[in-house]
Amino acid sequence: MSNVTVCVRFRPLSHKERKTNGDKDEREEDVIFSFDRVFYEDAEQSDVYNFLAVPIVADAISGINGTIITYGQTGAGKTYSMEGPSILHCNKQKTGLVQRVVDELFQSLQSSESMAMWSVKLSMVEIYLEKVRDLLDLSKDNLQIKESKTQGIYISGATEVSIQNSSDALECLSEGIANRAVGETLQQGSTSDERVRGGKIILVDLAGSEKVEKTGAEGRVLDEAKTINKSLSVLGNVVNALTTGKPNHVPYRDSKLTRILQDALVGEKIFSGVSESSGWQLKSGTTVLLFPQCFKCT
Ligand code: ADP
Ligand code: MG
Repeated sequence: MSNVTVCVRFRPLSHKERKTNGDKDEREEDVIFSFDRVFYEDAEQSDVYNFLAVPIVADAISGINGTIITYGQTGAGKTYSMEGPSILHCNKQKTGLVQRVVDELFQSLQSSESMAMWSVKLSMVEIYLEKVRDLLDLSKDNLQIKESKTQGIYISGATEVSIQNSSDALECLSEGIANRAVGETLQQGSTSDERVRGGKIILVDLAGSEKVEKTGAEGRVLDEAKTINKSLSVLGNVVNALTTGKPNHVPYRDSKLTRILQDALVGEKIFSGVSESSGWQLKSGTTVLLFPQCFKCT
């Protein structure tokens, strides 16, 4: 019943870590986890992309929402997986999920149907201290999350840039990235054709999952860490509720992050308007890409 896939990715040890031999935390006990797939150090960006993202892009084109979330401690490799070493200038092999998703989306749209039938829009927001900031227009620093029959959950007033091709998208994304503060960021590529069907892809690069005590944070940084931890624990509760079959008690409303993700996470989303007339039952798919250090902080 669950449409949540969980994968884990190990990044190569850094130069410093190699010197200290990875420094295994002695307090750790061996615990066994199981995953849909494990990507070891030698996994290429394209391996991760092919497994996680290709089905999500294909679904989005047929009107099914999809989400990819990276979760793990700071330095674990979340942003690298999403963006590669840099969203704009990096070699093809190291290109991250975001750019690959965008490329695939336009390739599929161009090859499958007339591009003119489609409208692709992109929004980019950051959730910082439980406020939703528009990364494409910094004057909008407290956007509200709303729900409507036709659009499902949406961020009211968020800038939506119409995208014609993947280089438009990259330009827009790199502008948003430059405006980012720290917290959780969320990139939403939305493909829609009001007459037929529409799907959205949400790509989430979460804030680090480290424990507050460990960071020795104070003041505003402490507030930041507490808010981040709260929203990450709500995300955990939501994913648990969805995967353990208690869909009536899913606490989506406990954080902005899960509220925004609600109709991308929910098991069975009847897509806006379309379903009412055609009776389609469209499901959402979500992949969580975990990074192994996060096990220490459970
Ligand atoms: P996070 O976003 O989780 O805080 P980063 O993505 O910034 O972590 O990764 C931390 C460092 O490790 C960066 O210098 C990044 O380039 C490097 N890195 C992460 N994953 C990989 C990988 N799979 N291959 C090579 N380098 C990586
Ligand atoms: Mg990062």
